[in-house]
Amino acid sequence: MPYTRALLESSPKVSNPSHTRLAAIPGRPPNLADLPRGCAFAPRCAYATERCHHERPVLEPAEETGHLFACFNPLPLRAASPS
Ligand code: SF4
Repeated sequence: MPYTRALLESSPKVSNPSHTRLAAIPGRPPNLADLPRGCAFAPRCAYATERCHHERPVLEPAEETGHLFACFNPLPLRAASPS
């Protein structure tokens, strides 16, 4: 899902040159005691739509066996893999 991809892109990679800046996810994590109405990641997700801000996605089975996801705009598997 888009937010997972952003998390993976913010991880350091051994193959990157020294002092390479990490990709940052703007904003702050949601307050777990006061979650937003829609998807908890919507305020920080680059792929969020109006629907994401008003509805909470439910878990659905992914193409891969044993995996679940909850996202209105899932990325294709190839795009979700870290480079
Ligand atoms: S449901 Fe919307 S806000 Fe949540 S991760 Fe998916 S695209 Fe982003």
